[in-house]
Amino acid sequence: MKSINLSQKLSGICLAILLAISAQSFAQNVEPTPPIVTAIKAGKLIDPAAGTVLSNQIILIENGKFKAIGANLTIPAGAEVIDLSGLTILPGLVDAHNHLAITYKVVPERNIYYYTYITESTALRAIQAASNGMQMLSSGFTIVRDMGNNGNYADTALRQAIEQGWIPGPKIINSGIIIGSVGGQFWPTPEMGAKNITYPEYLDADTPDEIVKAVRQNLLYGARVIKICVDCKPWGYSVSDIKLVMDEAAKVGFKVEGHVQTLDGAKRAIEAGIWSIAHDSGLNDEMHKLMAKKGIFRAGTETPITLPEHTTPERYAKTVASLKNAYDNKVPLTYSTDADYYVPGKTRGEVAIEFIETWKAAKIPNVDILRAMTVNGYKVSETESTRGPIQVGLAADFIAVAGNPLEQIDVLRSVKFVMKDGNVFKRDGVMIPEKFLHGGPVNGWNIR
Ligand SMILES: [Zn+2]
Repeated sequence: MKSINLSQKLSGICLAILLAISAQSFAQNVEPTPPIVTAIKAGKLIDPAAGTVLSNQIILIENGKFKAIGANLTIPAGAEVIDLSGLTILPGLVDAHNHLAITYKVVPERNIYYYTYITESTALRAIQAASNGMQMLSSGFTIVRDMGNNGNYADTALRQAIEQGWIPGPKIINSGIIIGSVGGQFWPTPEMGAKNITYPEYLDADTPDEIVKAVRQNLLYGARVIKICVDCKPWGYSVSDIKLVMDEAAKVGFKVEGHVQTLDGAKRAIEAGIWSIAHDSGLNDEMHKLMAKKGIFRAGTETPITLPEHTTPERYAKTVASLKNAYDNKVPLTYSTDADYYVPGKTRGEVAIEFIETWKAAKIPNVDILRAMTVNGYKVSETESTRGPIQVGLAADFIAVAGNPLEQIDVLRSVKFVMKDGNVFKRDGVMIPEKFLHGGPVNGWNIR
């Protein structure tokens, strides 16, 4: 018989105790806990798709999702009741084109990107992104498409941090690094070139092999949409190049947005059948008609004249006319800002909401401005069956404002209440994100 020494005996006893404890805690874990129900008393409830307003609705929320919505619902005993009967509830807003991990400024950059890239690390920019995300959420944006210029994947880190439950923030649909011909949107010196300054703001890809590899790199590092520079260089991407990007992204079910700044670039992107086009400078009446026919989303990034450092009266007049033309042609319009700069005195969310000025100037009816900010935002983000609409079974995200945005769109400038995934983020106009802050990843590690 083999002899057993004392330490072996002790470790055997310890193991037995540990097993007993873990069995007990397992038994405790599987005890059914009653679901936490929140009941919202909604004074008015807007459905932007239908353009309707319902009065005195009850919204029940359980486990972060809408459970029931109606006028005559019984509030379950023990439910937490939130009385918003004095407010108007509507689904969360979408900014279809923002850059949360870059904040260029007049000082010291004079609004030139290059400088930001060399003075601010990806780590610092990820923290900026966390802050900008909360500022967007506070202004009612529950979904943000973050379309590049985020250093070395600060956008993926932001998305993961929000999904894992470390910090509050909008649902992030991120692009990873913008893919473009050599140099991206830069014209670097030979000394700086691709190795020193272009990457990681842009991912150089000129040949078909490089294009496939660049798409795969972004997929590997956590992108949820692919962004390309269609015509940042005069040679740009051909129709077949764009289709190659689309085919590669489609292998994992993702879509492609094109940065387009010229008419030729717009023609190529539209011919390829791209998902969405960013910016309006390449778009005219003919392009709008083609986009409407093909159902290509327009993320026009219409900078308002009320942000005078970022447009000119001449440019603004063109922006307004182009947006109006797109609306008249029934192009699928999304609300998009391209916000990537600091405006003194404004949060990132307040900068984003300022863009309603351009939509008002284009004389777009309030209900259609709201549809661009909600319904079409969910479509371009491909969340419409999981998040966005206030519907049973979907993520419990919504906002509340005083007044009716269908009558006065400017009430969106002052969001009083924000719920995300069933948790209150803002109440009585004040951010109270306690429920979102934890010492651990409450939603798990394994979300890529
Ligand atoms: Zn942009």
